[in-house]
Amino acid sequence: MHVALVTVGDELLSGDTANTNAAWLGRQLAQRGVTVERTTVVPDRLSDIARVVNEHHAEYDAVIVTGGLGPTHDDKTIEGVAAAFGRDVIESEQALQWLEDHGGYERADLADGTGHVPEGSRVLPNHEGVAPGCVVENCYVLPGVPAEMKRMFEEIADEFSGQQRHVVTVETDEPESALLDRLATVQERYPVKVGSYPGEHVSVRFEGVDRDLVEDAASWFRERVEESADG
Ligand code: ATP
Ligand code: MG
Repeated sequence: MHVALVTVGDELLSGDTANTNAAWLGRQLAQRGVTVERTTVVPDRLSDIARVVNEHHAEYDAVIVTGGLGPTHDDKTIEGVAAAFGRDVIESEQALQWLEDHGGYERADLADGTGHVPEGSRVLPNHEGVAPGCVVENCYVLPGVPAEMKRMFEEIADEFSGQQRHVVTVETDEPESALLDRLATVQERYPVKVGSYPGEHVSVRFEGVDRDLVEDAASWFRERVEESADG
């Protein structure tokens, strides 16, 4: 399964907020064998949200959008997603009823627009907040607040699955530039994904669906590098 993430928010583009939602969703999906092919950050602007969701929903098995939910003036996500699918925005009776029954809200106290979702969508209740999420065709719309987003993702997590992948990491103190030949050779010899990530040590990551191949590639490499003492 191939997925695109769309994270909405001016504050993400300016760097005022780190995009932890994308990182968290990326890890959750990878653990389920789902490949995240794209992560896009778009401003709180209807046309940008609509364009990106429209492009991605045709190209990937699913799109997950976070942020910009709810009735605040800068929350454009519901309108943007509705536009991407050519649907109207409607007030969901089911969403409002859920907030009355489970959220402890009086309907009259909810801000206008609180229960708005694209027409024909499946409503996802917000157990940690107010604004509901929704699913439109293959597009999942989740809140921006990390705690709300995580809780809502739990509800839909089983809808995301793929082939389990195995990962082995080898850490070395050798500089990356010294490893080029060995990295190229191990990549030629073994049909697994090899990634090299320099930091305090260089982390070399072997990944694939065949556990034995991943182990063999990592062993071949481990025998030919100086491994970090704590690696
Ligand atoms: P609400 O329903 O409360 O209005 P929302 O779905 O509209 O929430 P936003 O208004 O976009 O979400 O953001 C709410 C908070 O969550 C902000 O503090 C924002 O910085 C944070 N947030 C939004 N997107 C992300 C993200 N991708 N990673 C981390 N934090 C985020
Ligand atoms: Mg908001």
